[in-house]
Amino acid sequence: MHELSLMEGVMDIAKQAADENEIKKITKIHLKVGIMTMAYPDAMQAAFETLSSNHDLFSDAVLQIEEVSLQASCRSCDESFAPDNYQFVCPFCSSPDVQINGGQELFIDFIDGRKE
Ligand SMILES: [Zn+2]
Repeated sequence: MHELSLMEGVMDIAKQAADENEIKKITKIHLKVGIMTMAYPDAMQAAFETLSSNHDLFSDAVLQIEEVSLQASCRSCDESFAPDNYQFVCPFCSSPDVQINGGQELFIDFIDGRKE
C-alpha cells in the first residue's frame, strides 16, 4: 500500500506546478505509471480521491493514469522488445545483456488547470 505516499508526492509536484503557472484550480492530472512500479491504478485513484477531497485546488481535478508497459533493448544485437513475464533475455539472440528502457517510471505527463 505505497500508493498513498506516491499520490502525496504527485500532488506536491502538481501543487508546485500550479503555483508556478498561477493555476487556481487543477482540472486534470495526467500521470504515467510504469508497470514495474507495482502501483495499482485503482489504488492510486482511491488515494487521489482521499487526498484531494480536502483541497480546494484539486476539487475539480480528474486523475488520468496511463500505464507504461515494460520496454527493453538488447545490448548485444540492439533489438528492442517487450519482455514477457519479467524474462530479461533477448528473444532475438538469447543474450541476457538487456537494458530496461521503460516501465519503471512514475511521473506527471501534464496538468490542466484554470487561472480564475
Ligand atoms: Zn539480442
